[in-house]
Amino acid sequence: GEVDYKGSSQYAKAFAGNNEKAVSIFAKTKTLQEQREYLPIFGVRDDLMTVIRDNKIIIVVGETGSGKTTQLTQYIMEEGYAKNGMIGCTQPRRVAAVSVAKRVAEEMNSELGEKVGYSIRFEDVTSENTVIKYMTDGVLLRESLNDEDLEIYSCIIMDEAHERSLNTDVLFGLLKKVATRRRDIKIIITSATMNANKFSAFFGNVPIFEIPGRTFPVDIMFSKHIMEDYVDAAVRQAISIHLQQGEGDILIFMTGQEDIETTCILIAERMEKMEGAPELLVLPIYSTLPSDVQAKIFDFSENRKCIVATNIAETSLTLDGVKYVIDTGFCKLKVFNPKIGMDSLQITPISQANANQRSGRAGRTGPGMCFRMYTDNIFRTELLESNIPEIQRTNLANVVLLLKSLNVDNLLEFDFMDPPPQETILNAMYQLWILGALENTGNLTDLGRKMVEFPLDPPLSKMLILSHDYECSEEVLTIVSMLSVPSIFYRPKGREEESDSIREKFFVPESDHLTLLHTYNQWKMNDYSGEWCMKHFIQVKAMRKVREVRSQLLDIMKMQKLELNSSGMDWDVVRKIICSAYFHNAAKIKGIGEYVNLRTGIPCVLHPSSAIYGLGYTPDYVVYHDLVMTTKSYMQEVTAVDPLWLAELGPMFFSVKESYGNNESRLTNLGGSGAKTKTLIEKHGKEAMEKQM
Ligand code: ADP
Ligand code: MG
Repeated sequence: GEVDYKGSSQYAKAFAGNNEKAVSIFAKTKTLQEQREYLPIFGVRDDLMTVIRDNKIIIVVGETGSGKTTQLTQYIMEEGYAKNGMIGCTQPRRVAAVSVAKRVAEEMNSELGEKVGYSIRFEDVTSENTVIKYMTDGVLLRESLNDEDLEIYSCIIMDEAHERSLNTDVLFGLLKKVATRRRDIKIIITSATMNANKFSAFFGNVPIFEIPGRTFPVDIMFSKHIMEDYVDAAVRQAISIHLQQGEGDILIFMTGQEDIETTCILIAERMEKMEGAPELLVLPIYSTLPSDVQAKIFDFSENRKCIVATNIAETSLTLDGVKYVIDTGFCKLKVFNPKIGMDSLQITPISQANANQRSGRAGRTGPGMCFRMYTDNIFRTELLESNIPEIQRTNLANVVLLLKSLNVDNLLEFDFMDPPPQETILNAMYQLWILGALENTGNLTDLGRKMVEFPLDPPLSKMLILSHDYECSEEVLTIVSMLSVPSIFYRPKGREEESDSIREKFFVPESDHLTLLHTYNQWKMNDYSGEWCMKHFIQVKAMRKVREVRSQLLDIMKMQKLELNSSGMDWDVVRKIICSAYFHNAAKIKGIGEYVNLRTGIPCVLHPSSAIYGLGYTPDYVVYHDLVMTTKSYMQEVTAVDPLWLAELGPMFFSVKESYGNNESRLTNLGGSGAKTKTLIEKHGKEAMEKQM
């Protein structure tokens, strides 16, 4: 049966009398030790440690801010569990892993990377002395490739399990097996208030420990009518709170970087126009923001703060002092879009569970208010009760590759808490098959086995591996690294033309990929100079990151015995390699700058910033890295290709037909007129593959 442990509710009561003011200056006046002891989890420490001692797997549930993420690891270490290995704590989000590790290092008075460290993709800040390691769930999943039983850990905390991130869901299935093989491991699943029973049932009715909450009432205000523009609505709401309501910070939930930046600018602009209004400190927070800027949200401020965040502030980061929440009702979610055959980030309405988490953020240190920028009716009738787990809505190619290499032969039988639709698995297998990672039988090929070693999306790892055979790995390694780091170029407001014209100097007209390569090489020739970056409107930090990623990928290549080789000045072969990995994203010209995807027939356009425009004409065939969908489907990172390469490298989709004379059908004529010509024919391989499986 199921056992429930309740912590002492006495403790929660003891704090109910605190007023907000006392709490807001709390962080400034109390020592870190005192702050730790103030957290709800501290009051139930002994009970919690008893349950952990007596059980191999437990579920810990507690409100955001109760101390799960920062305290559990330390308690477990203090109890002596770390003698047989590290204490690992996974986070679905990189930002959270880094920020929390910093905080815990501080609480333990140790330098980051020493006793406490973190590891995220392409960034490992741990050492031999590390006892507590925060990491993304993706990192732990990769570690399980080389250490199936995760022997280096004595305890694994799967934090933020309610998020149901893809990697966490896969780890659930793997850890359940690890627990049957290892006697000496502790597994703790933590969750904000949702889903605890489901987790418990999955792991065999393991105990659920509840940390008593300390929450205050939150008044919820719905908007009376449907808002056309949630950014504008949120900005107006924030200003109105600032001018009319008592003290307390404001937290706005936006969807992503663009919205957040716009919101911050709009608020600042409107504040500027108001004379005599009290200061308002506007702070953005999203995952690609440099970490020193991120850290500012935790700094003490005399003035009211207005934090503009993605759903990272829903449960992953605890912000003290927030009294007003503005909820736009939207978030960005990665969803598989069957129309285009790949994942894309889409702005999606949140679920009711998200909405409740968001409003809860206003009631942590005192009674609060939440302003929802949508109507009551929308909340009740249009929002889903809870989120669809990522595993049921995204591309699984990476997961399939990983599980295959862990010898999970029949993916349909893997122990998923919520199995993905069979079609999604088949789709992923199909994608891997066309890339040459899977045999017709569904087993991994040699290429597939090599691909697993790289922490990259399958087409990128294929590109890298193949480039070695084609003697251009030096070049492709740079391109792959550049593609792994977002926003290299920047385009400051008011200086768009200037920055565009400088960027154009780097253009290699056949290819955005080659443009990236050329940019990196120029930076290298200028001794990796920061000043050079600034002069060319290039993000210094992003470029340093690229260099780091490059060197880490190079290490993996060396381990795979893929020595670097260079194509010298012949960059056509590089384009061919790009084609070999991205022929599924091939498009044919339809008009100036307008294309149509060869496989799906979806119209797509060149991005206005594409180097391809530098050619002076638009090439007949291109492949692209990604599609970004706003008002149109924009192809991102585009390379012109020879259609014969498509036939050579993507034979399951394309073949060449030889004919005489001009062919006026929909097939594209490649040769001169009248003579024998070769024509690219598009075929459909999917049915063939499905028959084989
Ligand atoms: P939970 O995981 O239960 O949501 P946390 O352990 O993340 O709770 O947070 C407990 C407290 O630690 C928070 O109330 C906050 O005051 C503090 N805290 C957490 N992370 C940071 C940080 N990066 N900087 C400053 N304080 C932090
Ligand atoms: Mg937490």
